[in-house]
Amino acid sequence: MAATHPFSDEDLARLNESFEQATAEEILRWAWDTFAPAVVASSSFQTQSVPLLHLISRVCPAMPILFIDTGFHFPETLAFRDELRDRYGLNIVTVHPEITQSELFRKYGEGLYRRDPDLCCYINKVRPMQRALEGKQAWITGVRRDQTKNRAHLRTIERQATGVLKVHPLLRWSREDVAAYRERYHLPVHPLYHLGYLSVGCAPCTRPVLVGEDERAGRWAESGKTECGLHLDWH
Ligand code: SF4
Repeated sequence: MAATHPFSDEDLARLNESFEQATAEEILRWAWDTFAPAVVASSSFQTQSVPLLHLISRVCPAMPILFIDTGFHFPETLAFRDELRDRYGLNIVTVHPEITQSELFRKYGEGLYRRDPDLCCYINKVRPMQRALEGKQAWITGVRRDQTKNRAHLRTIERQATGVLKVHPLLRWSREDVAAYRERYHLPVHPLYHLGYLSVGCAPCTRPVLVGEDERAGRWAESGKTECGLHLDWH
């Protein structure tokens, strides 16, 4: 259950209108000033996550940043998370699924991610996030409109079915904006980035991107799935 907040649909429409002209920094500062301490960010700690993490370190370093440890991450992702924590002084909160990986394997077999990736993502990502958001008013994400068809129509603030407000400070950024920000602040890249992993999720569901493919083409490439479910409405 999300904590209640005072924004009506009309308020959100007005804010969304004004946020179409605001910078990512302004949106992030507004979210922190408005909702702290009932606000968290989430991150998958890949290359494209770093600009938001860097912005948080500059604007609101105390912001809790949720990392969902599904148990299926590349070891390089865990190492990169720790490197970024130390470098930018991030307040990372690691969240785990309700059941251990051995319980998951016992109950569903080892290849659930192949047979039913939606169920696997629900157990290992969506449910842990739902629990971590209990009592929160706002959730900061790094999603952008140019990443997937589902994301193209998002607004900067979205009210979730649970009542929590999802805030996307980087929504209007393009892939080029991310690259420019990374260059400007000399941001590090995920250790697998130069091997073609432009977007990195769990190891069994991520392959390198081929020349000419979209940034997220290496995610669930065999199944046609494009979202883990964290950024779909949970109604
Ligand atoms: S990304 Fe793959 S391994 Fe990770 S939770 Fe989803 S289906 Fe399971």
